[in-house]
Order: sequence, then structure tokens, then C-alpha cells
Amino acid sequence: MAEELNPFKIAQAQFDEAAEKLGLEPAMREILRWPRREYKFTIPVKMDDGSTKVFHGYRVQYNDARGPNKGGIRWHPDETMDTVRALAAWMTWKCSVVDIPLGGGKGGVTCNPKELSNGEKERLARGWMRVAARELGEHRDSPAPDVYTTPQIIAWMIDEYEVIVGRNHPAVITGKPIELGGSQGRGDATARGGIFTVREACKKFNIDPAKATYAVQGFGNAGQFAATLHKEVLGGGILVAVSDSRGGIYCEKGMDPQDIVKWKLENRTVITYPKADKKISNEELLELPVDVLYPAALENVITQKNAANIKCKISCELANGPTTPEADLILHKNGVHVIPDFLANAGGVTVSYFEQVQGTYNYYWTLEDVRKQLDEKMTSAYHAVYDMHKEKNVHMRVAAYLVAVKRVADAVKLRGWV
Ligand code: NAD
Repeated sequence: MAEELNPFKIAQAQFDEAAEKLGLEPAMREILRWPRREYKFTIPVKMDDGSTKVFHGYRVQYNDARGPNKGGIRWHPDETMDTVRALAAWMTWKCSVVDIPLGGGKGGVTCNPKELSNGEKERLARGWMRVAARELGEHRDSPAPDVYTTPQIIAWMIDEYEVIVGRNHPAVITGKPIELGGSQGRGDATARGGIFTVREACKKFNIDPAKATYAVQGFGNAGQFAATLHKEVLGGGILVAVSDSRGGIYCEKGMDPQDIVKWKLENRTVITYPKADKKISNEELLELPVDVLYPAALENVITQKNAANIKCKISCELANGPTTPEADLILHKNGVHVIPDFLANAGGVTVSYFEQVQGTYNYYWTLEDVRKQLDEKMTSAYHAVYDMHKEKNVHMRVAAYLVAVKRVADAVKLRGWV
């Protein structure tokens, strides 16, 4: 049978397995395997050539039993309602696993940002906000960045929202530039949170992260910071490979992460980086025998086709949904320690939550405070999941689901929905 690659079907299958293990009653299963609300809208945008193009936009509010919905906005050519639903489900479990008082949401636009001018991006950002604004608010649903939505795009969105409501309202959207009420430490929070979980995992497996080899697939926000922070926070490491949408590069003796980031920013790709030994494909990168692999691009890159060839010791899933359920079983059998996506990349939403708190009381924390609180949240979430993995003898993703789904189900029960 062909492997299921629809992210929402995968999210539901992962949930079903946890629901079965938790013995959830049928009505609880039904309410937790679907979004509570979803919006699909059209966004007309005046293009630079004078024509009008109609884009398709989405917002899904998955579950707000534990707190207001929260989740990023993704701009991508392959965006569909089902990718947004899956990401909204994962946001729900993510906020729960790190125990912050938020529910899950997600939004998106089907578009190719690489083909849009800055003016067109601004009109699209403002257009998305004009349609979605009525459903948003820090006590209802609050967006954030995701793939290809930059701090500048978020800045246009917060400006549009504040024009609509007629007052300053910073907590409605996070990932803002610092000058507009963003939090210290938000830029690298996703990767930093993942690095904290890798630090804890290395202790469990007696790996010295300062000597560990590592590879990063996807060299955007999450991947670039993973590359630099592995070195900075974990005291070293040997970065042997990185990739972006155009392919990857490999260097056996290791590469300087800061230098590759600089190259990527100046040349838009890593594949022309001159200090690598050779070019490799994204597929080859995933199969390298490294201590730590950071999948930091998109969904479904580790499937039943290549899972048996994955040779890393730890896979820290900064991307959402990089591993299919079939692949999970193979990785588990082969002893690969997976730090599952909604745990590994929860640092972003954790600092987004800190940003919302700061915006609400209009008092801002120091960078040191943010990092300390992030470390505490991520470390305690990793250990809660690891302990569940040992206690129930299940792989790490199932363990993360057991921790997260139980908390959401308890909140649903207390509210009397089921
Ligand atoms: P980004 O847009 O900054 O970067 C994406 C990177 O992936 C780019 O370098 C792009 O070239 C590369 N890429 C695209 N297609 C690829 C392919 N087929 N193979 C290899 N590389 C490819 O996005 P980001 O914010 O870094 O997000 C990356 C992943 O991390 C996504 O799954 C996202 O949902 C997840 N994530 C991001 C955050 C965050 O705060 N940025 C938080 C949680 C999860």
C-alpha cells in the first residue's frame, strides 16, 4: 500500500495511536482529531503590473481548551487546507507538551513568495490580515511567523491589525521586530529550544555534543540558528553538511557555521559555498552517519523509502512533520533517538508566548531572562517525554503525544465539552 503523505491524515493517525493508548472515549477522540473552526478566504492583491491576483488564504483554530489558539502563518506554493490543519493540530500538542496556557492554530497563503516583489508581499500581508482580523485577538487566536513569513511581513500585519482596531495591540501577533514589541530572543528561539533538548538527549546517550558531528537539512531561520547555536551553546561540534532547497554541501573536517550563514545571506544558497569538499543532495545529507541530524526544512523527508538508511544517533526535528509514521517505526527499531517535532521545535512558540505576556503588560524582559525561562521549559518538557518513553516503552513521538494529548483531554473534560 502506498504510504500516506497527507500531513493531516498523518497527524490524525499519530493522534489515534495516542488516543488508543490513553483509552480516550469516542466523543473525546472525535473532538480532538478535528479542528474546532476553520476559515478559508480569498485575498485580492494589486500586482505591480497593474493586474489583480487572487490568493487563497487559511486560518485553522484547532483546539482552545487550554487557552487561546496560537500558531504561525506559512506562505508556500504547496499550502493547502490539510497542511494548515495538520500544523494547527501539532501546535495544539506543542503548546501542551511544553505546558504553556495556549491552544493550537495555524494559517497560510498558497503563494510563491520568491516571485513576489516587496510591494506585492506588503499588500498580501495586509490583505490576509484584513480578512482574518475579525477572528483574531490575544484571547482568541494569535498568529506568528512560519515558513517564508519574515519579521517584516509580521510588521505589516501588526500595523494593519492596529489600523483596523484603532489602537495599539502588540500581543495579537508574535515574531514582531523588537522595535514593534517583539521579544528578545524570539529570532533564534526555535533552534535554541531544540539545542537544549539535544543537550539533554546527549547526556542520556553519553554523547559529547562538543565533539559530535552534525548535519542540517534546510538552511532558513530554524536551520541557520541550529548550525550556529549547536557550536555556541553546546561548546563545539563538527558541522559536516548543510542544505537548502537547491541542494547540499559536505565537508568531512567540518565547516564554520557563521561563515556559511554569511555566504547564504549574500548568495541566497549554500550550494556555491567554496570551502566544502563536495555537493550532495538533500537525500544524501539525511543518510549521513552523523551524531545529530537536524531536519529543518519541510514535511515528509524521512519516509519508509529512506528510513532504513538513516544513520544518525539523534534526529532533532526542527521542521514540522519531517518523519512519516512508517518511518518512525523503522527509526525506533534501528535505535535512532528522535526528538519529535512538536517537542524539538517548541522553543519558537514558547518565546512567542513570552512575547505575548510582555506585550500584554507592556513590560519587556532581558535576553538573559528569556533564555533562562526557555531553557527551563524545554528541559522539563524533554524529560517529561523521555520518562514517558521509558515508562510505557513507546517511541519518543508516541510518548510526546501521550503527555500532550492527556493534558488537552483533561482540559476538555473539565470544561464539560465531552
Ligand atoms: P524558512 O523559510 O526560514 O527556511 C526554510 C528553508 O528550507 C530554506 O532554507 C529553504 O531553502 C529550505 N528548503 C525548502 N524546501 C527544501 C527542500 N525540499 N529540501 C531542503 N531544504 C528546503 O523556514 P523556517 O522558519 O526555518 O521553518 C523550517 C521548518 O521549521 C518548517 O517545517 C517550520 O514549520 C518549522 N518551524 C519553524 C519555526 C520558526 O520559528 N521559524 C518554529 C517551529 C517550526
